[in-house]
This record gives sequence, C-alpha cells and structure tokens, in this order.
Amino acid sequence: MRSVDVIVLGAGIAGISAALHLQARGRQVLLLDRGPAGEEASRGNAGVIARDGCIPHRLSASPMVLGAQALGLRSDAHVSWWGMRHHLPWLRAFRDASASVGVSRYVRALAPVQAAAVGEHLALARAANALRFFRPTGLVKLHDARDAEAAELEAHFARIYGTGYSELSSVELARLEPHLVARGLRAVYWPDGQSVSSPGGVTKAYARLFRERGGIIDTGDALSLTGAHGVWSVRASRGAVEAGTVVVALGSWSADLLTPLGYAFPLAALRGYHLHLRAAAGASLSRPVADVARGFVLSPMERGIRLTTGVELAPRDAPARPRQMAQALAAAREIFPLGSPVDAAPWLGARPCLPDSLPVIGPAPAHPGLWFCFGHADTGFALGPATGRLLAEMIAGETPFADPDPFSARRFAAGWEMLRFA
Ligand SMILES: Cc1cc2nc3c(=O)[nH]c(=O)nc-3n(C[C@H](O)[C@H](O)[C@H](O)COP(=O)(O)OP(=O)(O)OC[C@H]3O[C@@H](n4cnc5c(N)ncnc54)[C@H](O)[C@@H]3O)c2cc1C
Repeated sequence: MRSVDVIVLGAGIAGISAALHLQARGRQVLLLDRGPAGEEASRGNAGVIARDGCIPHRLSASPMVLGAQALGLRSDAHVSWWGMRHHLPWLRAFRDASASVGVSRYVRALAPVQAAAVGEHLALARAANALRFFRPTGLVKLHDARDAEAAELEAHFARIYGTGYSELSSVELARLEPHLVARGLRAVYWPDGQSVSSPGGVTKAYARLFRERGGIIDTGDALSLTGAHGVWSVRASRGAVEAGTVVVALGSWSADLLTPLGYAFPLAALRGYHLHLRAAAGASLSRPVADVARGFVLSPMERGIRLTTGVELAPRDAPARPRQMAQALAAAREIFPLGSPVDAAPWLGARPCLPDSLPVIGPAPAHPGLWFCFGHADTGFALGPATGRLLAEMIAGETPFADPDPFSARRFAAGWEMLRFA
C-alpha cells in the first residue's frame, strides 16, 4: 500500500487549494477525485472574486415571495415541492440567517478571508502561469430600486470594512458599461474585486501546479475511505493509499461521505445553471454584472458571455429543468443586448451551502486526522485559495491568519448524539 502524509478528497477549487498549501508546508499529498480536476462547481461558476462586505444569497421572509418561488414564477430562486418537503428545517434556518443579525455574523466571519481572497488567488495564479485569466474588473450589482434593503446593508458593511463601493448615476454606469440598460434599477460598483475569464481554466492550472510540484493526482471514489487507529485509507485507480490525515473537500457531495460517519451536516446543494451567449453585434461587456433581484449574473468569459442563474432547490442529481434558465435569459435580454447561444444546452451544477452560508473549515470533532473544507456556498471560487491556506495552517499547527471559530464543524453538533468528541 502506498503511503502519503495527507489525502485530499475532491479536486475542486477547495481541495486543490488546500492540497497546494499543505504541499507548501512540506506534506506529501494525494489529491483524489472521481474524475478530472476542476469539472464541477469550480468550473461552472460566474468567476467573480468579490471583496469583503458582499452579503450572501438571502431568502425572503415574505409568504408572497416564497409562494412565487415555489411556483417557479421568480428567476432568483426556485424552491421545488421536493425542496419544501425535504429541506424545510434548512429553509427556516437559511431564512433566519438572511435576517440582518445573521448577515452581520456572516460578513464579520468572512471579512478577513475575503480580504485575502484576491491576493491568495494571484499568488497561485502567478506560480501556475494563469495570470492571463485574471482581470481587475470589480463587479457591478443591480438592485431593484423598490427593495433598498440589500443595497443599504452592503453599503453599511463596505463602510465598516473600507471596501470600495459607489452608487452609479446612469451617466457613470454608461461610461463603465455602455451597452447595459439598467432603467429603474439602482447600480452599485464594487471596484476592488477581480473576475476570471475561465474558472475551469484557473482551477485546472492550479491542479497542474500541484502536480508539477510533486503532488499526486489520482482517480477513485472518496466513499471507499476507511479509517482505524488514526490511519485512513482509500482505493485509488493505482491501488490503495493510506495517510494519517484526510481532508474532505467534496463540495456538494461532502455529506455523502460524512453522514454515514455520524456527521449530519445540513448541507444543501443549491443548483445553478450557466449558458454562454454571443453579444449582439457591436455590444460588449467588460465586467460581471449581478442582477440581485432576479438572481442572475452576466460575466464575460472566454467562450462568450456566461449567464448564470440564481438558486434552484431540487434533488441534487435530478435532470436539468429548463424553466429557470429561460426566465433568467429573458430578464438578461432586458438589460443587455444578447445574441445567440454558444452552448447547445445549459450547464448544471450545485453550490454546497450550509444554512448560515459559511463553510466548514477545521477538524472533525470525533475522528482524529479527519479535516473538513467544504460548504463554500456562492463564494467558493473566490475563497478556495484563502480557505485552503487557513486549513493548512490549522493542520500544520501554525497561527491561522483568520479566526477559524465561525467555521467550526461544532456549530452543527446538536444533532450528533452518536459521536463522542475528542
Ligand atoms: C451557477 C453558479 C455560480 C457561481 N458563481 C460563483 C462566483 O461567481 N464566485 C464564487 O466565488 N463562487 C461562485 N459559485 C460557487 C462556487 O462555484 C463553489 O462554491 C465552489 O466551486 C465549490 O468548490 P468545491 O471545490 O468545494 O466543490 P466542487 O468544485 O464541486 O468540487 C467537488 C469535487 O468533489 C468531487 N467528488 C464528489 N464526489 C466524489 C466522490 N464520491 N469521490 C471522489 N470525488 C468526488 C467532484 O468530482 C468535484 O471535483 C457559483 C456556483 C454556481 C453553481
């Protein structure tokens, strides 16, 4: 049996970044995935690397809005009847976390990690020869002028954290994005963030860097993990591998491995779609634009303008449904002159999301040598390199650069009666 220091399960942005930071601390690391690196959410996202102060997806407390979402009448969120039935406690907890106290806790917890996000990405991108994907575009957010709350909250946090933030007049918006039509919408510019032209290209470049630095990438099923007496082993395509330390970075699939071990995380797979489109003749878009009320993002990418949808709460592995993308596309055409699609069909993926929208980063409370790095919700592409560093610092016994307490697995421990904690 082969032996390494650390096995990282899952080769998305979270797992690859953790593997690189552990490797930089002298660990021999094996990165295991069932398929090629960077093929799931880490490929299909909107490529926005937002700065601190941005607030997460929220769920309205209004019964009217919830009803419309359940009926599939709004593009920002589709909550299927299955979602209502199976995720009611999750939905309640998510809605509670959407209130201003929960949002404030979220922003405070993530601020130091988000502040490090761009720098951590650029350091990896420089080493991986991937700087060509990065652009200092910032982000434009469009808010429904009648719903001032989200914009007010963000303005408040941007002031606290000193993050660049400016309300744009129609003239200023036209100067920034001449082909955007935002009549009746409130436009806000976040200049400090970056975006990338290919999230999959970036993630795969980081995986190549890991391999070039001596890391091992292998395929295999993470669910083959077994552990006894502090030694963990998995079956990989080139034979079994053992290690004293295992990192679970399986994104929306993390609970498949952890629930049988006794960790009943309330992890939801918030599905989302993307479709690349051509810009209509003569039109161009220079930076990501997020329409907050209707839940979609338009992001210029290598393949065209990528339109990503809001959240769909449906069974993770159910077939794609066309409705939300159709709604988002109709809404997107109202604000930008889009041409024909580039892709034959929309891509479908899932954001791994806990009710407080914060990831779980840190040790498993009842299994020595087992570590968690998942649940990055809708900011995982941005945060992966920074949370990978945080996790590696914790595993190596260094002083972590950010307070890891808000990300502790123990915040969900109320339902884990079966486990005896260390
Ligand atoms: C539509 C959409 C738009 C988004 N936009 C943004 C954005 O603009 N900015 C941002 O920061 N974030 C965004 N996100 C969120 C971001 O994409 C995710 O948070 C992030 O990619 C999660 O990374 P991950 O590595 O945890 O998961 P993933 O990238 O999903 O990786 C998990 C890996 O685990 C592997 N795996 C699963 N099961 C097994 C198994 N049994 N055995 C072996 N391997 C297994 C999978 O193959 C996969 O490679 C968006 C997400 C979506 C869906």
